[in-house]
Amino acid sequence: MAAAEQKVCQNCKQSFEIDASDFSFYDRIQVPPPTWCPNCRLMRKMAWRNERTLYKRTCDLCNKSIISIYPAGSDFPVYCEGCWWSDKWNPELFARSYDFARPFFSQFSEFLLKRVPAMALFNTTATNADYCNYMAGAKNCYLLMGGRESEDILYSNRIYMSKDGMDLYTNTKTERCYESIQCENSYGLMFCQYCDSCSNSAFVYDCKNCQNCFASTNLRNKQYYFLNQPCTKEEYQAKLSKVNLGSRAQVEEWRRKFDDLKKKSLHKYAEILKSVDCTGDNLKNSKNCRSCFDFSGDNYENSNYSHYVGLGLKDSSDVYGLSRGDLLYESLSLGFESTENSRYVCSQFIKGSSDIFYSYNCTSSQNLFGCIGLRSKQYCILNKQYSKEEYEQLIPRIIDQMNTMPYIDQKGRKYGYGEFFPPELSPFAYNETIAQEYFPLTKEEAMDRGYRWKDPNIREYQVTIRSEDLPDNIKDVADSIVNEVVGCAHACPPAGGCLHQCVGAFKIAPQEFQFYRLMNLPLPRLCPNCRHYERLGKRNPMKLWHRGCMCGSTSSPQAKNTAVHFHGKGKCPNEFETSYAPDRPEIVYCEQCYNAEVV
Ligand SMILES: [Zn+2]
Ligand SMILES: [Zn+2]
Ligand SMILES: [Zn+2]
Ligand SMILES: [Zn+2]
Ligand SMILES: [Zn+2]
Repeated sequence: MAAAEQKVCQNCKQSFEIDASDFSFYDRIQVPPPTWCPNCRLMRKMAWRNERTLYKRTCDLCNKSIISIYPAGSDFPVYCEGCWWSDKWNPELFARSYDFARPFFSQFSEFLLKRVPAMALFNTTATNADYCNYMAGAKNCYLLMGGRESEDILYSNRIYMSKDGMDLYTNTKTERCYESIQCENSYGLMFCQYCDSCSNSAFVYDCKNCQNCFASTNLRNKQYYFLNQPCTKEEYQAKLSKVNLGSRAQVEEWRRKFDDLKKKSLHKYAEILKSVDCTGDNLKNSKNCRSCFDFSGDNYENSNYSHYVGLGLKDSSDVYGLSRGDLLYESLSLGFESTENSRYVCSQFIKGSSDIFYSYNCTSSQNLFGCIGLRSKQYCILNKQYSKEEYEQLIPRIIDQMNTMPYIDQKGRKYGYGEFFPPELSPFAYNETIAQEYFPLTKEEAMDRGYRWKDPNIREYQVTIRSEDLPDNIKDVADSIVNEVVGCAHACPPAGGCLHQCVGAFKIAPQEFQFYRLMNLPLPRLCPNCRHYERLGKRNPMKLWHRGCMCGSTSSPQAKNTAVHFHGKGKCPNEFETSYAPDRPEIVYCEQCYNAEVV
């Protein structure tokens, strides 16, 4: 087994480490070690995933008016779901013979990526959910991106098995929640973060099995807590009666108090549950996973640099956004069921297939290389059918040719075999994709790095009310509000301003207005995009720093321990990888110290 090695990233020129477990994985799937660092690799993949920039256009086959992630006038035809899956078109008509005199990516882009019809959106079994994307089983939802089996959810991202919610990010099995992040098995939460099995609470952080708590943190199995103080039911109700979250001014005041409270509370170095030998954040049921983030299912093993996996992952590296799979490398947006030994290398939108290389939007296929839009095919290269023998002869020659004649992009970066698709070939501009959500750049920065940029679509309609002129209290809002066009408080000019893809103005939908009234919540002042980005700003980055436990250190005087710790009165010697950057204000504890205090 090769020892760890330091390399310089071809893209950002910073050094990064490839360790022994990485090398054995690369050997196993027969790819050379990467030339981009993990972070640059993640951004490069993300620049191919447009979750929330939607356009109105028509289906290029049936002419029906549709919503799509591709604007009208894209290079390739865009079909609605029904047309795309029909046999009214044939992806094999785009087949090309491999040209050994041209780089692979040039051929792939020119003959397939810019020609083969694309699917308007990535949804399955949607009911009354036209403005949703990357959803399986959305019902009566609007602007819900990513997740499955959810109902009556508006303006949210990554929602699973949830109902009646708005403005949520990463919620599983929640009902009637609002502005909540990373909550599960909960009911009636507002402005909460990292809560499990909680109900009827607001401004609560890191609580489990709590009911009727307000502005509280780090609680377990409690009820009637107000500002982290226990109360009787009557005291709690008396205190709560002085709070009116129907008022925007009060919400903002409590939001400030809550932020302050969070800073003073204890933060576990990472949200890693029931796992062994893992680094990253928001992981569960994982074993030997390094630098991984956002695994929400049950079975993760031997995988590195992977993100946002819903059901399970084994022996993989550098994957983003899938339900389940194994032997995957540098791939993203994979389907809802994968077979054992799926083995996808540098591929996207693949479902129920195996041995797929450099392919895009293919289903139920085996042994594809550089294909787009194929269904139930085997042994194809650039959509052209070969015999098994021909295919097996051609593949090693193509891999060789990719290395001797790599694609060179406008920035002079080389892409041989094993490198993911060059960002300049992406059908999306950087700021149409989740790359902008997780690694926000200015237009100049993005273009300087060789990404495309698209100035956000400013809505054509005229603002009829400025956000500062909205009534403070929901009880003073007239029904006619649903006819108004509200100016977003960030009021970003088309170029510059916030980096939130601000759309400038927004409307309050009737279903949404009802929710605010029912829940006694004030009208929003920001457009849905700005709200989404503000929520993203509340999560830690998908990046790790090596730090020591702050318990017992003189630099965290706020931390007043109440329990006896294994290290006695001195400083805790434990170190860890954490997504809390060293300059952040939070008190970050190792698992042992955190568990001693938060019980
Ligand atoms: Zn880099
Ligand atoms: Zn905005
Ligand atoms: Zn904004
Ligand atoms: Zn400690
Ligand atoms: Zn301690």
